[in-house]
Amino acid sequence: MAGKDSREFREIYERLLVFYGPRGWWPVTREGGSRPEYCGGPVNHSQRLEVALGALLTQNTSWRGAGKALENLISRKLMNLQSLLEIPETELASLIRPSGYFNQKARKIKTFIKFLAERYGQSWQRFFSEPADRMRELLLELNGIGPETADSIVLYAAGQASFVIDNYTKRLFYRLGHSPLGIPYESLKRRFEKALPAESALYGEYHALIVTHCKERCTSRKPACTGCPLSDLCARRGVVSGKD
Ligand code: SF4
Repeated sequence: MAGKDSREFREIYERLLVFYGPRGWWPVTREGGSRPEYCGGPVNHSQRLEVALGALLTQNTSWRGAGKALENLISRKLMNLQSLLEIPETELASLIRPSGYFNQKARKIKTFIKFLAERYGQSWQRFFSEPADRMRELLLELNGIGPETADSIVLYAAGQASFVIDNYTKRLFYRLGHSPLGIPYESLKRRFEKALPAESALYGEYHALIVTHCKERCTSRKPACTGCPLSDLCARRGVVSGKD
């Protein structure tokens, strides 16, 4: 299976990359900037923290709302551990209101920030150098962080190889005939990680391309199959709904 998956998953990746081009994920705020942009991912620890918060803020909402919430935090110069520790949870919630579920998300951000402070103290940046498996395990122990958020933080904030699965990935790989519709998160993640070399740049680009393809073309209802770069590989071209 791994040899067949390797060839086919790589082919899908290459075609999406040629069709859409590099995506520049994850959006981060450049030094001196005021809002996250797609400029190739984080290069310093403040940006890594921003990406981790972005992964929490984009849960159950579009990036647009999460990005606006981050803009509010950046304009208040809160993108550092001390300020995020000190700000009252209710004030944080009102700043991140554009991301939706803002009370829950403020609690999750506080939980994450307290975890960094209590475990690593002034050297909280060391968290992002933990081995990928250990980092994932630590994140999954925190309230409000599930596998997709944990993998997004490991991959895009820490720059370590951990493949991110989401509903777009499940739908696309079901339509392409590679997996059943309700495949468990960990099973599909293992398939990708067995099929592809453990390279964070490859994993990051692949996930970003899947999201782009599913938003722009392989939508839940009435996907645009004509002209799709994967149409000759697709078991379900011409489907009309997410369950087809
Ligand atoms: S052919 Fe249609 S269903 Fe298949 S991947 Fe392309 S857009 Fe999606």
